[in-house]
Amino acid sequence: MKAAPFAYVRPGSLDDVLGELAGGDGKVLAGGQSLVPVLAMRLGRPGTLVDITAVPELGELGVRDGGLRVGAAVRQRAVEHDPAARAVPLIGMAMPFVGHRELRSRGTVCGSLAHADPAAELPAVACCLDARIELIGPAGRRTIPAAEFVTGAMSTAAGPEDLLLSVTFPAAAAGEGHGFAEIARRHGDFALAGVVTRVRVDRDGAVTGARLTGFGISDRAVTREVTPLLREAEDEHGLRPATAALAEEVVDTGGDTHGSTGYRRRLFGVLAARELSRALRRARDRRETA
Ligand SMILES: Cc1cc2nc3c(=O)[nH]c(=O)nc-3n(C[C@H](O)[C@H](O)[C@H](O)COP(=O)(O)OP(=O)(O)OC[C@H]3O[C@@H](n4cnc5c(N)ncnc54)[C@H](O)[C@@H]3O)c2cc1C
Repeated sequence: MKAAPFAYVRPGSLDDVLGELAGGDGKVLAGGQSLVPVLAMRLGRPGTLVDITAVPELGELGVRDGGLRVGAAVRQRAVEHDPAARAVPLIGMAMPFVGHRELRSRGTVCGSLAHADPAAELPAVACCLDARIELIGPAGRRTIPAAEFVTGAMSTAAGPEDLLLSVTFPAAAAGEGHGFAEIARRHGDFALAGVVTRVRVDRDGAVTGARLTGFGISDRAVTREVTPLLREAEDEHGLRPATAALAEEVVDTGGDTHGSTGYRRRLFGVLAARELSRALRRARDRRETA
């Protein structure tokens, strides 16, 4: 099937992008890796595609005020290879699982957030780290937490005239460790289930905070504070009963030809226990001992 007819514009300034989006018939085109298939399947029929890649200020990538700021036009592959991204180790852990290298050469980090696929890796990383999403639209600029930005499968808090300007991921602190794992049928496929973890410890190695985000398991990434759980058990096998119980609560994706709900619960429980335990070990390796 071919896409329905549309106009294409590539403004060179933010004001002109917002002007093109005014009225609600325009659609932002970033990397096109999700939008173009949507158009080709006629699941969307925007009047105008507004290509944002020629706006210089949307290309910003760097550490600022304790966080890695990624502008709307920054490609996933640029982030993957930029030394500044080492400030957020989870990005380096998750990025190789986002489709394939060729897709990441075009796809943007913000585009992945705006598309809000429930099985996508980057929205889960953003939710686990409590990243901040910066939006601009008719009501002006506003910044919201990633978990509030995604409102359901393929839906977000951005209105039709809004532009996602940037996402800022907090830089990892001393005493912070992370885990990431997913199970997919083939490398590069969307995950059947996946987890992202962040654990913090004090100078003595005691757990001060633990967060767990699951993806591919519900209509959006689901985040839970699990500090008490990690204080009761630290190793993977000891954690298993608690993560299995958590799986019953948070995994509600219906079964399909790739796996039943029960199978996804089992995957989630096993991965969550393993990645919490790993993140704890890494946090202790990174703690300040001076
Ligand atoms: C075969 C294949 C496999 C894939 N596998 C994976 C995978 O395993 N994991 C994964 O996470 N992704 C996967 N993807 C999706 C890919 O990562 C996309 O790059 C990403 O989801 C969207 O980024 P984009 O820049 O291409 O956005 P686009 O396709 O340009 O846009 C996607 C949507 O977001 C909107 N949008 C984009 N940028 C903005 C903005 N700044 N403000 C407001 N709205 C915006 C667009 O209007 C559109 O609705 C896969 C894609 C393909 C084709």
